Amino acid sequence: MAQHPQTIFHETTLPSPSLLQSRREIFHAVGVKAQLAQLRKTGRYTCFDLKWQPGVYDDLSRWPCPPPVYWDSDVAKWIEGACYLLLDRYDAEVDAAVRAIVDMMRSAQGDDGYLNLYFTVIEPEKRWSNLRDQHELYNAGHLVEAALAHSKYYKNDLLLEPIIRYVKLIRSVFGPEEGRRHGYPGHPETELALLRLHAVTGNQDAYELGRYFIEERGNPTGQHGQHYYDWEAEERGDSPWKRPNSYVHAYDHFYNQSHKPILEQDTVEGHAVRAILWDNMVDRKMYLTGGIGAMLNWEGFGIDYFLPQGTDDGGCYNETCASIGVMMLAERLLHLDLDSRYADVMELCLYNTVMGAMGLDGRSFTYVNQLASSEKDNDRRESWFETSCCPPNLMRLFGSIGGYLWDYGSPAADEVFVNVHLYTTAEVSFETGGGAKVSFAQLSDWPQDGKVSFQIKAPSTLKTTIRLRWPSWSPDYKITPSTAEEFECVGGYIVIPSSYTSKHSEFTVDFDGFAPRQVYPHPYTNQHVVALARGPVVYCVEDTDNPWEKDHFRDTGLARHGEIQERSRSMPMPLGSGDQAEKQCHYIELQAKGWTRKHEKGSDTRGRGRGQKSIRQAYAAEKEADNEEAVTLVFLPYYLRANRGGRGMMRVGLLRE
Ligand SMILES: [Zn+2]
Repeated sequence: MAQHPQTIFHETTLPSPSLLQSRREIFHAVGVKAQLAQLRKTGRYTCFDLKWQPGVYDDLSRWPCPPPVYWDSDVAKWIEGACYLLLDRYDAEVDAAVRAIVDMMRSAQGDDGYLNLYFTVIEPEKRWSNLRDQHELYNAGHLVEAALAHSKYYKNDLLLEPIIRYVKLIRSVFGPEEGRRHGYPGHPETELALLRLHAVTGNQDAYELGRYFIEERGNPTGQHGQHYYDWEAEERGDSPWKRPNSYVHAYDHFYNQSHKPILEQDTVEGHAVRAILWDNMVDRKMYLTGGIGAMLNWEGFGIDYFLPQGTDDGGCYNETCASIGVMMLAERLLHLDLDSRYADVMELCLYNTVMGAMGLDGRSFTYVNQLASSEKDNDRRESWFETSCCPPNLMRLFGSIGGYLWDYGSPAADEVFVNVHLYTTAEVSFETGGGAKVSFAQLSDWPQDGKVSFQIKAPSTLKTTIRLRWPSWSPDYKITPSTAEEFECVGGYIVIPSSYTSKHSEFTVDFDGFAPRQVYPHPYTNQHVVALARGPVVYCVEDTDNPWEKDHFRDTGLARHGEIQERSRSMPMPLGSGDQAEKQCHYIELQAKGWTRKHEKGSDTRGRGRGQKSIRQAYAAEKEADNEEAVTLVFLPYYLRANRGGRGMMRVGLLRE
């Protein structure tokens, strides 16, 4: 079993400076404490004392999910992220807060091992009564992940021990055995946490439960001949017509992927299904920015190619957590099938939707990541959300980001390999099976520049193979020192064989593809728009740089031809006092020729009203040059949007000639 990023991230260090390192620095300087303050302010942290919180618990009317139902997971994700950051750098305040919340969690646990806030304080009689909607098992999964991170940093089982007791209790309730419930988490997550718990501790309950949840999911006749969620709804006495907003029809379980057994799909189609699901998602349901989920209603996928840019166009959701999930899935798939298409998407998500979800102040976030603003949904950030899964999820991702950069190992005593998925400035150190120490470093200014230098430090007797992802947007590359032999490219990875690395412990690869390029959505999206990208970074326009804009760039086009100019710019990172106050975020601004479309306000009916032009006249008039005004457009990376005030107007895809 290949190691998980959460287990091995600390073997990689990120010496400054790099964009990834600067993001983790924001969490160290501000993010981890700002999120703690929000958890305290909103009652999430304090509620583990199991006391009724007036003002916090007063309105629990939201059905089927009053917000406190998933508070455990917000706190658990914060603990997980905090422990990753502590491993990188000690902070007394964060350490004290982790210790205190762990003590509270230990006291909050029931004698039988049960550990869930909502069903202990608010509705104790409703335990296990609504797995479909109420996040009980989902919370347990995040507690498991928090406990693993905690035991890794603190090297004790103060959190792991109660969580293992909780897992034992859950195993006694759920499973294939007669008399146990044949249910599974409404929100999948617990499964991977349990399997990770098993991988780290060998815990058998965790393995059996994780496997059972996966195998049982979507069984149409699992509980007394019924789908489990239909059975439990009947047990609750719910009307068959009462359904959550996220369900399009009653009994329609696609929202939580339990409409069909997962394993049935896998065994019928084998490897192909995995590829098909991935390709379907990436080729037909993913935005240019790596965002997924066009539909607000169920925070999820629409039909193929339904990818409107914003609310005005028909909707765009793109939750931050969804793109973090894509990164996690891509990282897992790379272990099974080393193919650059997974790593390309992992990088696309990282440098666009995921990185853009936190402001440079470390205290402001986006939950929804639209590609265009509107009057209804301005492009702005919030300090917290009622459902606040995204901020602590970002923290645990950036806390463990070292684990996503590469895959490495020692398949035989005299062999080592490193497969590099993401480029930055970083160094990994590990030991071979024979105990030899190996370190491998990369140095680059990615994603601003495509030049990456590598250095291998390993005993000369070792055969070292390096595989470098060749991004799909890069037309060519050059490796120095050069060699007479051609490098092989397998699955989108350039193979640097041991015959080369034995002669050159230092080498450089220079990827082309950092000239700005125009990118278009698939023609089936019916969007006649164009966007700019440079390397893995997608760009957008904002009113801050284009102050003439009045209507969210709905009438703005990008010239097909014409030079695109690059300018080195920087933006302050307002991290508060001390030396952090001076930090700047460097980026490359693009300037290009564009135009704005003029049309008479109120003429939207195009000739249907009295005295209006006929449709033909209106279109003809629109084509005339004097209906367009030339402008110079200023673009900035999408990940830097909404950091400088302004009027909240932004767009990625502009009209195309
Ligand atoms: Zn989220």
